[in-house]
Order: sequence, then structure tokens, then C-alpha cells
Amino acid sequence: MNKYDIPTLRKEELSDLAEHIADTYFPDTLVCPHKLAKIYGISSSFEDYGDAFDGLLEFKEGKFHIYVNSKRVKHIYQARVRFTMAHEIGHYIIDEHRNPLMKGLAPSHSSFSNFSSDNEVELEADFFASSLLLPASRLKKEIHKKKFSFTLIEALSAKFQTSVTATLLKFASIGNHPIMIVCMINSRIKWFKYSHDFPFKYIETMPGFKVPEFSSAGQYFYENGIKNVDSSEIVFAEDWFRIRNKEDVRRQFYEHCIYSDKNKFVMSIIWEK
Ligand SMILES: [Zn+2]
Repeated sequence: MNKYDIPTLRKEELSDLAEHIADTYFPDTLVCPHKLAKIYGISSSFEDYGDAFDGLLEFKEGKFHIYVNSKRVKHIYQARVRFTMAHEIGHYIIDEHRNPLMKGLAPSHSSFSNFSSDNEVELEADFFASSLLLPASRLKKEIHKKKFSFTLIEALSAKFQTSVTATLLKFASIGNHPIMIVCMINSRIKWFKYSHDFPFKYIETMPGFKVPEFSSAGQYFYENGIKNVDSSEIVFAEDWFRIRNKEDVRRQFYEHCIYSDKNKFVMSIIWEK
């Protein structure tokens, strides 16, 4: 069990729940989480709250309110803010998140939209948010018979107005091509997620969960910040994964890195050639 991900069955539940909402309120249009908050009677505010959080859902005097941090944000229709809003709506929609909040058993959820949490509640809200913005059947229709490439992910992000990370998260769960996503900070692996049918489950890390040396991401961390921007590099299975069978040696994969200077992470997307 990967502690950076939630069980497949739970993902299906959350995906169905989100898709049902998308189809009910936005059958022919892009899902707008801001409109959805209004539909549910949730008020919201958009102000600079420093580095405290990206979004927060509060229950006070019988009412729900969503705070969205405007720091480092240009406007509320930006992909990142749409995701933050969808994530907070997730806390409102998911019974197990809303009920403790209403009973005063849980504090208000302050959340960050950088996918850095390994807290189950946060992982669930993240997955709900990506499912709401990229409803499963619409995504499937969009990728039908298309060959996987990083360009496809970028095209989906543009179409659904979602960040690349949110798009990858949803794609990995229902996509037509097995991928692994690895997020790294300061040469250490922060989290990873993979499609259920990805051929390898274990990363061959260096001690301390450090990024493998002979990887595209490794070049950035160990070779003075070399960036392979906009390029899918060829790597071998043994460069990234723990190999059990000899036949897997020299099996070829693509690794595509995204560099976020703002969030200080490097993310690798890995798929078989
Ligand atoms: Zn949250």
C-alpha cells in the first residue's frame, strides 16, 4: 500500500460522486467550482492570507464559508484556484469530512494545493477535486484512441482548465496508458502515484529515499541543475525501479520532467516506450 495514495475502491466512489455532481449542474459546460459553491449556498472570500493556506473550509454559526488565498494568484478562474475551490467543496461534499466539521469534532480544513500532503483527508479531497474538474467519462472520451504523450496531458489541462498535476492525478486513475508520477524536492522523493497497471511498484532509490542518480530528474539534482525542459528522455527500468526479473533490464521508458521553481519541486512522469 502506497501511503501517498488512496485505495482504488475509494477512488471509484469519489470519482462517481464528483462526476454525478458535474453532470447534474454542468452537463454541457466546463465545471465551475465557484458557481457550485453558490449553488450549495457556501459563501466565499478571496483575500491575501499570507502563507497560511491555499484554501480553507469553515463551519460557523450554522454556515459554511470557503476562504481562498489570493497570494500568488492572479484571478479566481486560474487553474490553481479552480482546484483549491474544488478541493474545499470536496470537504463539504464528502460525508466523512463534513460531519466531523459540523459536529465541531474536527478543526476547519486548511489545505494547500501543492499535493504535498500524505494525510488521508487531504488526499481524498485532492482526488475528489481532480475528478470534479475532469469527470471520468468526459476525460475518457477525450483520450479515446489517442496515444499517450506529455503533449496529451498539456492538451487536457488546457481543455479542462486544470493544472498539469491535477490532470496527471486523474489520468493515472482512469487513463488508457499506465504512468507513474514522482514528485521530488531537494533530491528526495516526496511522493509518488501510479496507475494500477503500471509494471513496477517499487522505486530503486538511493539511501534516504533519494532520487535515483541515472534519471532525468537526477540530472537536475546531481548535475548542477540540468533541466530537460519540454523533452521526454529515455531511461531504463533499472534506472528507476527495483528489478525482479532479468528480462526487465534495459526495458525502455520515457521520463518527462516538470520543474516548478515556485513550489521548488521537480515532477517526473514515467511511461513505457
Ligand atoms: Zn483540504
